[in-house]
Amino acid sequence: MQRVTVSIITIGDELLIGQTIDTNSAWMAQELNKAGIWVQRRVAVGDVREAIWQALDEEAQQSDIILITGGLGPTADDITKPLLCDYFGGKLVVNQEALDNVIYLLEQVFKRPRLERNMKQAEVPDVCTVIQNKKGTAPGMWFEKEGKIFVSMPGVPHEMKGMMSDYVIPQLTRHFTLPVVLHRTLLTAGQGESMIAESLMDFEAALPENIKLAYLPSFGMVKLRLTTSGEDQATLEAALETKFQQLQGLVQEYLVSTEDAGMDVVVGKLLKTQGKTLSTAESCTGGYIAHLMTQTPGASDYFWGSIVSYDNSIKTNLLGVPASVLTGEGAPGAVSEEAVQQMVRGCLEKMGTDYALAVSGIMGPGGGTEEKPTGTVWMAAGNREKISTTRVKFPFDRKRNIEQTAVTALNFLRRFILENS
Ligand code: ATP
Repeated sequence: MQRVTVSIITIGDELLIGQTIDTNSAWMAQELNKAGIWVQRRVAVGDVREAIWQALDEEAQQSDIILITGGLGPTADDITKPLLCDYFGGKLVVNQEALDNVIYLLEQVFKRPRLERNMKQAEVPDVCTVIQNKKGTAPGMWFEKEGKIFVSMPGVPHEMKGMMSDYVIPQLTRHFTLPVVLHRTLLTAGQGESMIAESLMDFEAALPENIKLAYLPSFGMVKLRLTTSGEDQATLEAALETKFQQLQGLVQEYLVSTEDAGMDVVVGKLLKTQGKTLSTAESCTGGYIAHLMTQTPGASDYFWGSIVSYDNSIKTNLLGVPASVLTGEGAPGAVSEEAVQQMVRGCLEKMGTDYALAVSGIMGPGGGTEEKPTGTVWMAAGNREKISTTRVKFPFDRKRNIEQTAVTALNFLRRFILENS
């Protein structure tokens, strides 16, 4: 089966200077990949007519489909639309449906006056198929030229996503004969990528040509993804399942989940299945664990809240950590087993949850000592019967130390729940 290929062109000076991080093409690439379309190039260009023109010419040489985001707004630097008009040999005309949408959004949703520059957003080249924008004022445009498809979409991420999901991907799927692409992903924690790779060498070498293994490491966890593609869904599924089962067996010791989910989701599901509740007492993570836990809709079923006990006074007044533990000659200190144990007890008592998780550490860049170097963290997980503690040390910068602490603590809690229920 012939590969159907795509190039993604993102437009905007802000992308080139790093002011905006290009999340559009990452998201688009994932969706296209799922649909069986091969992403072969991603290009970013500034708001410069010649540069955009050249990118269109070059990518049309490379790919069957050219997807473009950005440069469609009402501001002066947005030059893409007139350029597309010239490139495809058309003239700008008002599209009534797009105009109705602009007026509706301005009057009913944004409650702003009608400006000429807003109205102009309803103008489109008369040689394109208009893609209506349900989330914003700039319509998308679908062009065909010399057997290639070009689609221009707004740069605003949620507007682009709406168009891709509702129109562009379904249309491309109809237009081309695409292969079936299947993924199976599992999550491991507590073992580094290279160690896992060592133990999977034979497995990887014996994989059939059309099944690929990818390592996706982040924050002390490694996701392992098997991908296959071909024509017959049932045959592909059966072959992938066999290999996925084998893979699970090989990483059993570190296996956290056989779904493509983060640690927060895994812990949330475990709590929900058991009908149990969790609260956190967070010092060094400043509420980041609570933030992770509340990303999932419906989290209030199992996550009740957090006490961000950043200052010692909060550890003492709200969580009951004795001042003598925190300060004074020979005191264990805020980053200690005694402190996090009492943080868990205090949290269980104040919050009334089944489980509590506490962390206290030194995130850096300064603040470390010989005995407790920067990156040292004490964590405790517990219920009314038992509290378990552990001390870890992370070698990263502040931001990454915080993220790593949160994920490691959630995994520590996950193990505690599994061992004590
Ligand atoms: P508008 O001018 O109406 O805002 P537009 O289609 O002209 O929309 P841009 O002006 O290029 O798009 O960008 C609009 C917004 O979308 C900006 O906040 C920009 O930072 C963001 N954006 C643009 N391109 C990307 C991208 N590739 N990834 C993530 N965000 C982007």
